[in-house]
Amino acid sequence: MSTAPPARSGQCAVCPTPATSHCSACKAVRFCSRRCQTLLWPTHKVLCKRDPDVFYIPPLTARELDLVCAHKDRRLDGPGRPTFYEDITQADPQGHPGDVKPWENFVTSITSTEARPRPGFESLAEARDDRFADLTEAYRFLAVLTRPPFAHGIVVERSRAAWYFFAMRAGDARTLYLESWAAGGVDALASDPDAFARDNMWLGAGSCVVLNKLYRQLVVNMTLGTWAILHLGTPRIAPLELDALMATGEQRVLDAVDAADLMPLATRNRFRRELERYFQARQRANRSV
Ligand SMILES: [Zn+2]
Ligand SMILES: [Zn+2]
Repeated sequence: MSTAPPARSGQCAVCPTPATSHCSACKAVRFCSRRCQTLLWPTHKVLCKRDPDVFYIPPLTARELDLVCAHKDRRLDGPGRPTFYEDITQADPQGHPGDVKPWENFVTSITSTEARPRPGFESLAEARDDRFADLTEAYRFLAVLTRPPFAHGIVVERSRAAWYFFAMRAGDARTLYLESWAAGGVDALASDPDAFARDNMWLGAGSCVVLNKLYRQLVVNMTLGTWAILHLGTPRIAPLELDALMATGEQRVLDAVDAADLMPLATRNRFRRELERYFQARQRANRSV
């Protein structure tokens, strides 16, 4: 596993300007100015001082958890999903067909604040990966629940956690990553001797770990864009500047993929192409607004 710092580590976490300071609390995030630090603060205040090596999504708020619990047996159409969701209690975030995750385990997973191995997992990376998948599923479930027509009769929370929006994008990125592996077939896995040597028995390395840098950048983009616009009503950044910052962040995501050393090259390239398509779709949608 590479421990080399990213090529752009001297830059501000938000914009392409060289960094001149860092968060005094965690010293993990660098900024060029007070303004950039303020722009990232809505999510950094939650992530600050948390495990810097593996992405950490905070658990659902009590209210969000209540909402998920109250509708846990409901079958829903998901965004971009042509088929019904299984009941969330039946959902298998790890993707093993036929597996059923007991509801109690699911709730434990999405409420856990501990980044430590849990029973049933071979490693910390695997447990984190599982929790990440559960949280993503829970937030996606919330997204569907609070969208019409399901929103009828449900109090739609105005102050949704920022993670609600992050989970949509991170979940998509993880899906693209897993699909990139799957597209290579068994041969691609077998041809990479490290694939099964890493601590995730399924994919070689916990996708949460592999995608960590990418997720952190997605948090930056989400904080600047979606969160700022939807939660504050008034964007803090002019549209043209926001678009430029998003493009910078997307390029950093692609750089992170290029620098990844845990994926076979063919997988990395497939994943990169899919991400590029994803970003191009955002840019097209942005232009058409
Ligand atoms: Zn900056
Ligand atoms: Zn900090």
